[in-house]
Amino acid sequence: MTDRNFTAAYLKLSGRELKEKIRLAGEILKCCTLCPRRCRADRTAGETGFCRTGDRPVVSSWNPHFGEESPLVGYHGSGTIFFTHCNLGCLFCQNWTISHHGEGREMRHWRI
Ligand code: SF4
Repeated sequence: MTDRNFTAAYLKLSGRELKEKIRLAGEILKCCTLCPRRCRADRTAGETGFCRTGDRPVVSSWNPHFGEESPLVGYHGSGTIFFTHCNLGCLFCQNWTISHHGEGREMRHWRI
């Protein structure tokens, strides 16, 4: 069953709340603890940790995705963004050219 009235939580935030979350994310990037690896890399100064991602996302592709179960896909696809440089490093990854080799394009217009 699909809820046509679903609204993503971030869209319910006020402008001030969203700006504060963006500011806090930028602070975390200065000593990165975004994931359990807790590399403490200063991504805003060009350092990278295990994931090799700087302060801008690198994206391989984005599109509506219809390859999942129908509750996830809904009527218009689930929406998928393939970010590069995964922080897991699984040896059996089916997307290794993206996750391990960083196949993608840096998003220049997005910055915290
Ligand atoms: S792997 Fe990446 S996201 Fe995770 S803590 Fe290290 S630098 Fe941050």
